[in-house]
Amino acid sequence: MTARIWFAAPPALWPEYEGPLAEALARRGIAAEISTEAPDPAAVDYIVVANGAVTRDFAPFTGAKAMLNLWAGCEKLVGNPTITMPLARMVEPALTAGMVEYVAGHVLRHHLGMDADILGSAGPWSGRAAPPLASERRVTMVGLGALGAAAAQALVALGFPVTGWSRSPRDIAGVRCLSGRAGFAEALSGAEILVLLAPFTPETENLIDAAALARLAPGAVLINPARGQLIDDDALLAALASGQLSHATLDVFRTEPLPADHPFWAEPRITVTPHLAAATRPATASEVIAENVARAEAGAPLLHLVDLSRGY
Ligand code: NAP
Repeated sequence: MTARIWFAAPPALWPEYEGPLAEALARRGIAAEISTEAPDPAAVDYIVVANGAVTRDFAPFTGAKAMLNLWAGCEKLVGNPTITMPLARMVEPALTAGMVEYVAGHVLRHHLGMDADILGSAGPWSGRAAPPLASERRVTMVGLGALGAAAAQALVALGFPVTGWSRSPRDIAGVRCLSGRAGFAEALSGAEILVLLAPFTPETENLIDAAALARLAPGAVLINPARGQLIDDDALLAALASGQLSHATLDVFRTEPLPADHPFWAEPRITVTPHLAAATRPATASEVIAENVARAEAGAPLLHLVDLSRGY
């Protein structure tokens, strides 16, 4: 039987996926027809998407066995009521590695106070004291899924005491794991570096508001490679102005690209990175897509299924 796959992700991605996807499917013995044009909906078995790149009525795709997302985030898909087929998000080793590197790099930048030397803000031969050791810097990770758990473990390996917070209880070696609303205040309390890696859902919108920021250690740093909607932007700016936060490194925003007149650009204590923390890589992502097609064809459970009611 031939698996009919519609590659509905942006066409610009197709040249990168064409070869790796065909090879990954062939390795699993799957005969596939892959189309990049919008096909006859009734003749589609699998739809490959890239989060919000396709906002359309999927109801006519009556025979679709799965929708396979190239992105980890799927907030733009979960709200689409016409997606009634199983939806899988992307978890793949290169995406995870990229996020681990981004988080470790930006945590170390702030932990070591690198800006003082790189930007020269401390003046020539400032005589500034050696920074504390990682073991003396409290880090909290909001979200302990595929990315948050991996980043937390990397920080533990560097010596940071890491507290993690998730919706349901987690058990991750070396990480102090808290969960649920009850654990939230405790997870934030006294954190010197706060990293966000939770999805954008109705429950996480504006999670980091004035009250949350007030729980952090004075002069804390916020690093957000998750989604912009997790942060109350006005509360963030106020916390920077008051010194409660000393810096925020932000990779994601409510509106992307971040508009030219957005106040974040004018705030020197905000570092903007243009949603580059972690990219899905075609070679490794194609293996995940092909594996899920193989599983669906065999009637086996899909990897990385999204719980539509939960929103991630
Ligand atoms: P994931 O595996 O689904 O993990 C999500 C984590 O967040 C889980 O630990 C989950 O708790 C927790 N969580 C969800 N809702 C929560 C709530 N209401 N309260 C407390 N914790 C909650 O997701 P992932 O693959 O790690 O990705 C995380 C996010 O990173 C994505 O959704 C995406 O937005 C973002 N991302 C950004 C980039 C970038 O380049 N900037 C790249 C990839 C992904 P449970 O453990 O209990 O489920």
